[in-house]
Amino acid sequence: MPARTGQEYMKGLQEQPREIWLRGERIADVTTHPALANGARTIAALYDMQHDPALRDDMTYVSPTTGDRVGLSFIIPRTKEELERRRVMMLHWARRSCGMMGRSPDFMNVTFAAWAGAAEFFGRNRPEFAENLRRYYEYIRENDLTLTHSLINLQRNRTVTGVPSLSHEAALHVVRETDAGIIVRGARILATLGPLSDEIAVYSPRLSQMAEGHSPYALNFAIPCGTPGVKFLCRESFDLGRSHFDHPLGSRFEEMDCVVFFDDVLVPWERVFTLGDVGMINATAHTTHSTRHSAHQGAAKNLAKCELVLGVALLMTQTLGNAHLPHSEERLSELMVHTEVMRACIRAAEADAALDEWGVMCPAALPIEITRNLFMTAYPRMAEILQLLGSSSFMILPSEADFQSPLAPEIEQYLATDTASARDRVKLFRLAWDIAGSAFGSRQVLYERFFASDPLTRARAINAMYPKEEAVARIQEFLARDNEE
Ligand SMILES: Cc1cc2nc3c(=O)[nH]c(=O)nc-3n(C[C@H](O)[C@H](O)[C@H](O)COP(=O)(O)OP(=O)(O)OC[C@H]3O[C@@H](n4cnc5c(N)ncnc54)[C@H](O)[C@@H]3O)c2cc1C
Repeated sequence: MPARTGQEYMKGLQEQPREIWLRGERIADVTTHPALANGARTIAALYDMQHDPALRDDMTYVSPTTGDRVGLSFIIPRTKEELERRRVMMLHWARRSCGMMGRSPDFMNVTFAAWAGAAEFFGRNRPEFAENLRRYYEYIRENDLTLTHSLINLQRNRTVTGVPSLSHEAALHVVRETDAGIIVRGARILATLGPLSDEIAVYSPRLSQMAEGHSPYALNFAIPCGTPGVKFLCRESFDLGRSHFDHPLGSRFEEMDCVVFFDDVLVPWERVFTLGDVGMINATAHTTHSTRHSAHQGAAKNLAKCELVLGVALLMTQTLGNAHLPHSEERLSELMVHTEVMRACIRAAEADAALDEWGVMCPAALPIEITRNLFMTAYPRMAEILQLLGSSSFMILPSEADFQSPLAPEIEQYLATDTASARDRVKLFRLAWDIAGSAFGSRQVLYERFFASDPLTRARAINAMYPKEEAVARIQEFLARDNEE
């Protein structure tokens, strides 16, 4: 089947009954429920872009097995050109959602593409798992399915070492094996996009390492979201049911985050990719290099987000008439630096990309992984800069309804600036508030702080991969000069 349209995506969600719970209510149809429908519409719009004649070549490629045009984020890149093409595609999607839907379907597509390229890895001890992986990748590519993922086990306490403290009371584990597959029980976080996905993938974070004795938790599998026993518990929706004017981002890009409960769920054998092998689970992301590919998707999202915040900040200062003031320029320049460093890292990662041992073209490790570390602190600062630039204007935010009220003449007169009508000013600042202040905006900041693991773990990851010898050797060489001179 060729790349899906938005309508086909929506139909897929409607036709697969699943257990989605939100504020005590089981949601019958996520495509019409007010808490989720607008997010579903945006994902549908992303799928529709694949059929826009002007974008078709940017968004799709020819399937190597069927000859159909399929989504380009499924490509297993073999050349630098293919890597760049994939980024162009991902950037189209990221810009469509202003970088506000981090878990758009390309996130999981690039992960499974990397795994399929390195499928032999999964078959090292169980050859059938490599075949399962290849078949599953082809299945999601040819059916253009949307995946969510939940990697983190809930813990009832914490160890000082950072090794996850896993117990059968909370963590997802294998209860037993049957002829049909494995039965799993427990809970996982945090399935972003869960209610809007067709399938859920369960594996382990690339950084948090499992230890000996964790084999019941060492799992990698994928099943339909509607599999009996799978239950999604949503947080409150940040789509408050208001107009695009009132909440321009929240009313469009609610991707939702869920805890997932697995109540003795049967995972068929053909959907199991790793079972009980702690060494393999710990090695998966690095050995297959899937982490670099998901970072490539994340970097495209980061760039779209930088562009959004910078553009909003520039317009804010123009609107308020303070763009030329030194303190505004200082803050704007910080946003420019973040934007250009992000762009440069992407370019460096693609320019220095190399074929790995699986014959897959991989973005260079350091520049692409650093985009994750960078954004954990850069994005919260970017939101803070908007607050600093906007100040009290964030509290002068009449709603769309106020413009129809008896106070409309006063609003129109007193809230206008030299460069903007009251309506344009308020519309812009409501957008800025949805980035820097609203519940939707606060969740985005939290997302960027944590979605790629906690900051300490990520800092240690960069330490572990950085080629320190070169830096040390340079200093040693300098210190040795004293003796010569
Ligand atoms: C909005 C959002 C969306 C997300 N989406 C997804 C998703 O789609 N799929 C998915 O799988 N995951 C997702 N995540 C989860 C994300 O992967 C985790 O949040 C991340 O790995 C950190 O784990 P944690 O939240 O359990 O933090 P914790 O491990 O609880 O860490 C909390 C804080 O405690 C500190 N800390 C942790 N352990 C220790 C220790 N032993 N000693 C001292 N300090 C410690 C950390 O540094 C951190 O500051 C999402 C998270 C957020 C916030």
